[in-house]
Amino acid sequence: CGIVGYIGKRDAAPLLLEGLQRLEYRGYDSAGVAVSGKSGALKTVKAKGRVRDLESRLPKRFAGTTGIAHTRWATHGAPSDDNAHPHMDPDGVVAVVHNGIIDNAPELRAKLTADGVEFASETDTEVLTHLIARSEADSLEARVREALARVEGTYGIAVLHASFPDRIVVARNGSPVVLGIGENEMFVASDVAALVRHTRQVVTLDDGEMATLKAGEYRTYTTEGSRTSGSPTTIEGEA
Ligand code: GLU
Repeated sequence: CGIVGYIGKRDAAPLLLEGLQRLEYRGYDSAGVAVSGKSGALKTVKAKGRVRDLESRLPKRFAGTTGIAHTRWATHGAPSDDNAHPHMDPDGVVAVVHNGIIDNAPELRAKLTADGVEFASETDTEVLTHLIARSEADSLEARVREALARVEGTYGIAVLHASFPDRIVVARNGSPVVLGIGENEMFVASDVAALVRHTRQVVTLDDGEMATLKAGEYRTYTTEGSRTSGSPTTIEGEA
């Protein structure tokens, strides 16, 4: 339903929760957030219910200057803490938030389960988490690309990886993803409503497009890996 991401120098969690609040009007049944701390290790907190329920669960120390967050509108699996996004692999290396529906999730889930993968949720989204975590490609971009090549369906996704702590990788196919360009910081969201308080410079991804966000730069490319222009536009009007 709603995606927000941040990478920069500020503490990510308050910014992410504030972004989620701006997406509440769209409706949702649960919410969650993941941040990567200094060492790159990922931490996540999820809650069925409102963004304020999530907020009340955050530990005092939930520091990290990179993070992703989600409000979920359940399509596969009941609203619950476990089914809320972000979804992580058992080693806590990958965190994924996803809007949309993975149509071939049942087949992929069966294959992964046969390979010994243990699922922690009933969602279609979690197959993406495991596909990315199991990829051995060199870059996070290539790992995400490999995983996406195996899924059919719609997605807007944002991905964190403990071994690639300097970036967030996002992709769009049928579910909106907008980048927000700040001063030595980058935002991403499924809806400009979550961005306009921070920046008016945005890049709207097309279907089949991906992006890598770092604190001071971004690049956009197709799911096949060729660069796209990624030219920013300026949002006019009231925030
Ligand atoms: N299909 C995913 C789920 O059920 C994502 C739903 C959404 O777009 O919020 O968890």
